[in-house]
Amino acid sequence: MAASAAGMARGETGVNGVTLSGIVVRYGEVTALDRVSLDVRKGEMFLLLGPSGCGKSTLLRAVAGFAALESGSVSIGGRIVNDVPPHLRNTGMVFQNYALFPHLTAAENVAFGLRSRGVPEAERESRVKDALRMVGLEGLGGRKPGELSGGQQQRVALARALVIRPEVLLLDEPLSNLDARLRMEMREEIRHIHRSTGITTLYVTHDQREAMALADRIAVLDRGRVVATGAPEELYYDPPNRFAASFLGDMNMVEGRLSGDGQVETPFGTVRCARVGPAAGRTGGRLRLFCRPECVRLLPPDAPAPAEGEAIQVSGVVAARAFQGDHCVFSVRIATGETWIATTASPRKIHFREKDAVACRVNAEDMAELRDG
Ligand code: ADP
Repeated sequence: MAASAAGMARGETGVNGVTLSGIVVRYGEVTALDRVSLDVRKGEMFLLLGPSGCGKSTLLRAVAGFAALESGSVSIGGRIVNDVPPHLRNTGMVFQNYALFPHLTAAENVAFGLRSRGVPEAERESRVKDALRMVGLEGLGGRKPGELSGGQQQRVALARALVIRPEVLLLDEPLSNLDARLRMEMREEIRHIHRSTGITTLYVTHDQREAMALADRIAVLDRGRVVATGAPEELYYDPPNRFAASFLGDMNMVEGRLSGDGQVETPFGTVRCARVGPAAGRTGGRLRLFCRPECVRLLPPDAPAPAEGEAIQVSGVVAARAFQGDHCVFSVRIATGETWIATTASPRKIHFREKDAVACRVNAEDMAELRDG
């Protein structure tokens, strides 16, 4: 695939970091990966997102060479590596449970991959030192894993993967064993390390916030298949299907009908909505619009109706309200009996409480067609 001009401007070379072509991996009766194709650009931070059991770890293992392919191919740097054993693929992997050797010190753990690659001692020492410094563990190389906190052990695992200067870094839920604050801290460090090294990175998570915060691009997996690929904002606001839409966050839906002039008639008003597939041949056809909770504006119940075409508006009653500090989440029972979710920033200025009557307004530009169910 040719690199786009914008991609080139961001420093992408157009050379693929990792390419998967139609790969199938089975464990007995279970099809863990079902004809998966992906192009990860060189230097990209690429997130694999999906529920437990959808095949994320298997995908990483296929890249590392630990999962046998039934069909398809894996290329790294433009070279097919199907027949290259794991230790010759030049990938560095970090596991969720760290997988450190408990009897070795942090420095010895980090040095392990260098030793097995025959790197001379003097160079080994300086590279281990550099790697430990990169992950913020300078001076702690003499400690054994049992003398380090969970976060520090995770850093050792990261240093061990980085020290071999891999062409591809594979991170399997690297933060899931850490508490919320450490997770944020390590997330920033991983982002920083990625920026400074430029290593092509595949990162597995089931946490959509982590994925959106870190990713250049995300692939959403469902039952062994890639169902959506794109940049975080693109996937969040314009997902190609309902599974990806709901996995990335809460949403509200409204049924509509496409009229001849490209407007969508809904029970709550008619909108001219740009993010709807071509109207040709579909006039009169039913479709579904969706919007994210932060696009719903809560207004007093007697708010005047919006101008025709510009927004939809529906009355409702606040069923629940959850103050979250920096924002507030409202569940609103709307006129049809369905529940809409609305989030609003600046909670100190919020006047609506449970059982209050409200009007929910969504502007046309904040709605998109939700295809595929
Ligand atoms: P995820 O990382 O998304 O949680 P996995 O890649 O671990 O998913 O697993 C994908 C599917 O393959 C699941 O149904 C899982 O139970 C199955 N699976 C994974 N590893 C094995 C294995 N070693 N033996 C049998 N089934 C496996």
